[in-house]
Amino acid sequence: MNNISVFTGPMKSGKTSTVINTANALINQGENVKVFKPVIDDRFSTNFVQDRDGNKINAINIGKIDDLENYEADSYVIDEFQFLEGDLNIIKNLANKGKKFYIAGLNLTTEKKVFGRMGDIMEASDNVQVFKANCDCCGSSNAIYSFCTAEKTGDILVAGDDVYLAVCPECYDKLKLSKK
Ligand SMILES: [Zn+2]
Repeated sequence: MNNISVFTGPMKSGKTSTVINTANALINQGENVKVFKPVIDDRFSTNFVQDRDGNKINAINIGKIDDLENYEADSYVIDEFQFLEGDLNIIKNLANKGKKFYIAGLNLTTEKKVFGRMGDIMEASDNVQVFKANCDCCGSSNAIYSFCTAEKTGDILVAGDDVYLAVCPECYDKLKLSKK
C-alpha cells in the first residue's frame, strides 16, 4: 500500500462523485481531509468541487502540485489532476510519510494523448481505478474516451457538456471521421 489512489476515466464517468464520496467518508472517520482542485477549472465555482448531480464539497484552489506542501492533512483529495503541473516528488514524499492521496483526473485528452501528469501519477500509484461512462452517442456502457465537438488548440478547453462527449471506441472513430 503506497497511499496513492488514482481514479481515472473519460468525462462523465463519475470521478468527481467518487472524490466527494471518498472525502466525506474520510471526514466521517475523523480524518483531517483537504480537497484540492486546479485553479484553472472554474466551470462551476472557485471554492468547491461539484459533481453532475449537484453534490459538492469545499475545495482549495492550487496553481501547481508543489502548493500541496503548504497544507497539513491526513488525506489529500485532488480533482481534475490532469490540469496540474509541478513536482510529483512532493506527493511521493508526503505519501512515504504516511499521508494518503486520492487523485481523480481524465485519462486521455480528446486526441487520445495521456493528459498532463496523469500517466506519471498512475505509474506512482498501486491503486488505479479506471472508470467508464455511458456513451453519449450509442448509449453503450463502454465509453472510455472524451471527444470535443468544438475546434480547439491545445489540450485545455474548459467548457460544459455541450462541447464534450464521453464516447466508446467505435463512436470515437465515427465522430473523428465526420469532423474532418
Ligand atoms: Zn458509442
